[in-house]
Amino acid sequence: MTIVQIAIDVPLDTIFDYIADDVNSDDIGRRVLLPFGRRTVVGVIVGAANQAADPKYKLKMVREVLRDVPPLPAHILELAQFCSAYYHYPLGQVLLGLLPQRLRRTQALGPLTQVCYTITQAGRAIAVTDLPQRAMAKRKMLAALQTQPTLTRRELLQISASAGSVIREFMDSGWVRESAMPLTATPNAAVLLPAQAAAHALNVDQQTAVEAILGASPGFAPWLLHGVTGSGKTEVYLRAIAAVLARGGQTLVLVPEINLTPQLEARFQARFPQAAIVSLHSNLSEVERLKHWLMAQAGNAHIVLGTRLAVFTPLPQLQLIVVDEEHDSSFKQQDGMRYSARDVAVFRAREARIPVILGSATPALETYHNALQGRYKLLELKARAVRDAVPPTVRYIDLKREKLMEGFSAPLITAIKQGMKRGEQSLLFINRRGFAPVLMCGECGWLSGCPRCTSRLVVHLKEQRLRCHHCGHEERMPHHCPSCGNVDLAPVGQGTQRLEAALTRLFPEARILRVDRDSTRRKNALAEMLQKVHAEEIDILVGTQMLAKGHDFPKLTLVGVLNADGGLYSADFRAAEHLFAQLLQVGGRAGRAAIKGEVLVQTAFPQHPLFTALQHGDYAQFAHTALAERKQAGLPPYTFQAMLRAEAATLEGALKFLRAAAALAPVATQVQVYDPVPALMARLAGKERAQLLIESRSRGALQKFLSAWIIALQVHKTRNVRWALDVDPMDT
Ligand code: ADP
Ligand code: ZN
Ligand code: ZN
Repeated sequence: MTIVQIAIDVPLDTIFDYIADDVNSDDIGRRVLLPFGRRTVVGVIVGAANQAADPKYKLKMVREVLRDVPPLPAHILELAQFCSAYYHYPLGQVLLGLLPQRLRRTQALGPLTQVCYTITQAGRAIAVTDLPQRAMAKRKMLAALQTQPTLTRRELLQISASAGSVIREFMDSGWVRESAMPLTATPNAAVLLPAQAAAHALNVDQQTAVEAILGASPGFAPWLLHGVTGSGKTEVYLRAIAAVLARGGQTLVLVPEINLTPQLEARFQARFPQAAIVSLHSNLSEVERLKHWLMAQAGNAHIVLGTRLAVFTPLPQLQLIVVDEEHDSSFKQQDGMRYSARDVAVFRAREARIPVILGSATPALETYHNALQGRYKLLELKARAVRDAVPPTVRYIDLKREKLMEGFSAPLITAIKQGMKRGEQSLLFINRRGFAPVLMCGECGWLSGCPRCTSRLVVHLKEQRLRCHHCGHEERMPHHCPSCGNVDLAPVGQGTQRLEAALTRLFPEARILRVDRDSTRRKNALAEMLQKVHAEEIDILVGTQMLAKGHDFPKLTLVGVLNADGGLYSADFRAAEHLFAQLLQVGGRAGRAAIKGEVLVQTAFPQHPLFTALQHGDYAQFAHTALAERKQAGLPPYTFQAMLRAEAATLEGALKFLRAAAALAPVATQVQVYDPVPALMARLAGKERAQLLIESRSRGALQKFLSAWIIALQVHKTRNVRWALDVDPMDT
């Protein structure tokens, strides 16, 4: 009889004992089906021992050991254990949470297949030109199938967003038939010789960085690659990856956003045509994701490119981790286990004794501090890589002096005009989508507030709707004031849609494109838009931070920042850091090629030190000032924080729970427990939220405190309160 220890996806920090008769230590890491309460659930074996079961405890039997895919390897079990301990989150939830969705289901896996379509004789006989000229999607899809007779559903969807209905028509006409194609997890083993021809000759800074990374003695090495935008950080990654490929190793590359993966995947594939590169992010189908994951686990994928969750991918030959745009807040998970993928990556590299490269033009202050302290090794790329490209000049437009016309100052309008005359492109940046941030009554001062959140409803004029960007609440735009009946309601402030409308009036001859979450909802919409910008079919771009990251537009020479002042004096101590990063990144879009760029910032505080540093493009200056302030105020990275968050139907309910939680806190001299306070956004989606900050100068002391506290919290009876512990919180 074997007793097995099993981790299950339940919010209890417990490992469960079951009995199984056909399990040995090789099965550790395998999924099992087992009875749990009245349900059958999936669990993961984390231990097995041959011993007689104590008849005192009536242990249940495991239903089935699933041997359809290889077990989770030891290094992933250890990583999960580390995360469970560090983030104080149940091991079962960590483990089941890192499995691809498909492996969490109780249904048997079956053969991995994907739906595909094959052209028939009848379909071949149709001439593409016989289809109506306007039926673009049909024409493209038929042409594609005539060149490559079998295409997967996904491939067809990439050709056209309306592929679904076209396929149905094709099937009705008997032009294609549907079938299932096995998904193979084993690509051809190829000889991996990086195609050096496509590589740039490195400049001096890049050369120094590459030599440092490749020349370091084997083992754990955390590198901070700090390079201004356009300085060629990717080129440095590629060289480091090439060395790993040559040794037959695997590389994990983490990026903050799905939108950046296709671009990067293409660039990697072009450089390493022989390498198997797979992506892992939430835009993949369940089966695709599983396939990529299995390829990684089998050691068959050489490069894994993914977002946050990909940090947990099993990689038996892992030799390098790259975290691109390491400062990006999307590396931090905001619910469930609130991990930082960047920090987990560093821990993983340490355990695997391999290098990890953290790349950014604006490193997180925590990371930069680590570099200044010598814990990370700093590599700097000081200049733009493309010859003659120089950083843009930054100019401030004082809003206390300039009058605005529909959000635009006269100097900004002039600059856009001049750019157009020279055949160049402009980008106007504002971090607010929709038409206007709020609707106001001119009579009584009523403002459109969200009934479920402490926030305003945003005006979406075209659809005549008010929307909350936090909880998704929506309503029709009222014709008269709900408070006094006045019909004189006006949208106040600017959003992307309003700027777009204003630009259309100001520049009737310009080709204007708006890029934000609303305009890019459709699949592939963003890719198509970026294509248009590259093809120079656009004169003026207006958009949100979606445009700030990663994209390279050679003809773009002017960036206008419409309103950035919100971040200067915010209650969130990280707001300035994020604002600086964002402005430097968006400004970095200007003048990427040989033409010099200009950044115009409209602000009421042109003398603010943050703006002075931005003007000099001087991250280090900004970072040193900000770090000095943090030190004085006793904030991270000089202290370590955790936040206990609670939500309840009433604010008092949430606060009451936190007060009780504070009373349960163990005595610890080095740890400070603050008073419970309402969250910055006190109401969200109909729930009242409060939080309790814990702080310590010692990470070890904080961890020790949390370990003891969480045990007390877990047995503490709570009714109608949801709570979560957030270690190293990002929003405070
Ligand atoms: P970053 O990631 O630092 O913003 P990229 O790696 O995207 O910068 O490089 C910016 C541009 O510079 C790209 O077009 C890239 O092809 C080019 N580039 C990179 N390294 C070199 C080099 N050594 N010589 C010339 N061009 C380069
Ligand atoms: Zn009113
Ligand atoms: Zn809301």
